[in-house]
Amino acid sequence: MVLLPNSTAPCALPDSPLAAAKPGIDACVHCGFCLQACPTYVNLEDENDSPRGRILLMRSVLEGTLPADDADVRTHIDRCLGCRACETACPSGVPYGHMLEAMRATLYTRQPPPLVARVILAVFARRALLSLALLGARVLRATRLPRLLSRLPGRMGFAFAMLASTEAPLRGRRWTPRGTGARGTATLLEGCVMRGLFRHTNAATKRVLRENDYALADTRGQACCGALHAHAGDLDAARALARANVAAFERSSAEWIVVNSAGCGAMMKEYGELLADDPAWSARARAVAERVRDVSELLVAAGPRPTGGPVLLRSNGGGTSAPLRVTYDAPCHLLHAQRVSLPPLQVLGAVRGVDLVALTDSDQCCGSAGIYNLVEPDTSDAVLAPKLAHIAATGAALVATGNPGCLMQLGAGLRRAGAHARVLHPVDLLDAAYASGERAAPA
Ligand code: SF4
Ligand code: SF4
Repeated sequence: MVLLPNSTAPCALPDSPLAAAKPGIDACVHCGFCLQACPTYVNLEDENDSPRGRILLMRSVLEGTLPADDADVRTHIDRCLGCRACETACPSGVPYGHMLEAMRATLYTRQPPPLVARVILAVFARRALLSLALLGARVLRATRLPRLLSRLPGRMGFAFAMLASTEAPLRGRRWTPRGTGARGTATLLEGCVMRGLFRHTNAATKRVLRENDYALADTRGQACCGALHAHAGDLDAARALARANVAAFERSSAEWIVVNSAGCGAMMKEYGELLADDPAWSARARAVAERVRDVSELLVAAGPRPTGGPVLLRSNGGGTSAPLRVTYDAPCHLLHAQRVSLPPLQVLGAVRGVDLVALTDSDQCCGSAGIYNLVEPDTSDAVLAPKLAHIAATGAALVATGNPGCLMQLGAGLRRAGAHARVLHPVDLLDAAYASGERAAPA
């Protein structure tokens, strides 16, 4: 046994990832300001499912008063969404997200995650296998069967509804951006799910950036960002993927690495911390991380240029008479992890003919949380239910959010609830409005 720094308690797990998170555990003063921000505490009403309770569990495991293979500890840590709303609420600056990753990495070396999680993580770590799986998903989506099968009960039906919700909700029309490229060059993290199932959003991202005077460059050799692996406690796999991306983006001379998936952007902005203990990679990782921007940040730096004209919805078979009611749900990893709050709203505000209505508790998690909705379905549903009720109260036809997991979770929830509202990425709406051909003249 070794003594913990700042504590007389012995450390039961020296050299574990959790031991490295000890300063964060010590920073918690148990004030409870984070409790009402925590979706699992609010929905389950158990202190063990709160940030404060989970930090106490981390301390207990670290000091050896609870064993690392304790089933209850595992349950409460597994139930954490990793949404990091507690970080935003915490006045003491407790870095909860990193502590959670360290706790999971420590627990999962003793008892691996469930089989479904291991399979998903293994597929995401292998580019060829993932491409094949996503190709299969696209073929299935093209048959329109997922729309029908989304009515099946249980998780199977929900999974089909998630796939059905990846269809582009807006009518595509070819248009050519007229930007100058004078703002500099950006290169897009293509992403795994974004490249596989949201190709329309990746294409829209490139078009709207060009329209706003950015030049675009491709980067070859990109890998999965590693966020799913880090959040699940597989830090070795996350670091291997991060190294691959650092090496790939170092080869690009683009000033900015633009990301349109909040979870991937948060991960890439934290590559420096992820590889901090690797002398060969830490400085390189920090340099790449400093170039990462969410697409909304780059667009707002350029305005973005205002738009005009009607936006056409697939679901109503044609045009809508303005104003089109739209609401915005903030992805946790954009709001709480990256602290990017206003830029997505400013992007939506640039779309003329849109009535942007506020969504109650838009800062609360939707229950997607990577693969959480597949491995913790009951808690995920409990977190999603109030979100769907708040969306229904807005009367919005479109819900905008900038993360593939949130797009699929909200899309599936709305579809299975029989709601008419559809989900889309903010850049999809901006792109459709530019495509209307009624772009306002530059100021
Ligand atoms: S708000 Fe911060 S310091 Fe207070 S209990 Fe929560 S994590 Fe601990
Ligand atoms: S990350 Fe989210 S679910 Fe987990 S403790 Fe913090 S607020 Fe609660």
